[in-house]
Amino acid sequence: MYDLIIIGSGPAGLSAAVYAKRAGLNMLIIEKNPVSGGQIIDTYEVDNYLGIPGVNGFDLAMKFREHADKLGAEFADATVTSVVCEDEGSAEKLPVYKVITDNGEFETHTIILATGAHHSKLGIPGEEEYIGKGVSYCATCDGAFYKGKITAVNGGGDVAVEDAIFLSRFSEKVYLIHRRDELRATKILQDELFEIPNIEVIWDSVVKEIKGEDKVTTLSIENVKTKENSDLAVDGIFVAIGIHPSTDLFADIVKCDEQGYVIAGEDGATSAPGIFVAGDSRKKRLRQIVTAVADGANAVTSVQDFMVGKSKN
Ligand code: NAP
Repeated sequence: MYDLIIIGSGPAGLSAAVYAKRAGLNMLIIEKNPVSGGQIIDTYEVDNYLGIPGVNGFDLAMKFREHADKLGAEFADATVTSVVCEDEGSAEKLPVYKVITDNGEFETHTIILATGAHHSKLGIPGEEEYIGKGVSYCATCDGAFYKGKITAVNGGGDVAVEDAIFLSRFSEKVYLIHRRDELRATKILQDELFEIPNIEVIWDSVVKEIKGEDKVTTLSIENVKTKENSDLAVDGIFVAIGIHPSTDLFADIVKCDEQGYVIAGEDGATSAPGIFVAGDSRKKRLRQIVTAVADGANAVTSVQDFMVGKSKN
């Protein structure tokens, strides 16, 4: 029986692990991906994490993991398939949850959900068919395959602009296709983007279909203002249209908003007693490494508060 099971090993989960070990909690962190770090392992450069400007996302993830290891955090490689409440507990008694995975079942009094978020898909013809054959969701993972090629990025947020900048170092030409006439991305990134000669922004446009033979060759694009359709020859498309919380498994046990984010305040307390949330899967204003790390710390503090005053039976 654990005091705490943390589900997810991104910045929020790893921060929670560090705080939990320092608090002397008997804890387990369950990670689905064999490499800890969550979304940041795909990030080429993180320039806004205090004190480490320009750090590579993978390197930062490894530092987070080393920190948790140094304190003796226990990890399990497993995919959670469900969470079952075995005992709701009471004012004096802690609840008991069973966390069921593809690699065993674990019992715990409290849980921190730190499952983060995953890439949204376009849902257009050709997208699924050409994944790995020209359709990618990770420029830092796959960008180097497009040396001297023509690539497109779809989206207008920080990730899309970062991806376009990154790809411009390999690709002969990068198209950034955005559905509006202004970007959502931070101004500093936009300024950098507009300076790069081999990036062309295609405004007010959506990708309607991804076509090819063995690999992607063409994007069918529609200008949403003029309704004109055109074909764009590319070797690859990087989809960067935002993220979706990875919370489907927990929708029955904790309250989520209409987009699937778990509803909780800064203390991470969800609608279920003893279940807390931290990181990108929490409903909140700013999803960054720094806020995920802060969430992890706050959630562990809430776990401690929750456990104090209830005797373990
Ligand atoms: P995002 O900020 O939500 O941007 C998603 C972009 O995709 C928007 O421009 C949106 O268009 C567009 N889009 C959404 N659905 C679309 C569709 N079906 N078809 C075409 N375009 C679509 O997501 P993100 O860029 O993945 O970033 C996620 C979070 O991580 C953000 O909070 C971001 O600030 C943060 N982040 C920060 C950094 C950093 O600080 N270094 C780096 C990466 C990410 P509209 O603009 O028209 O809505």
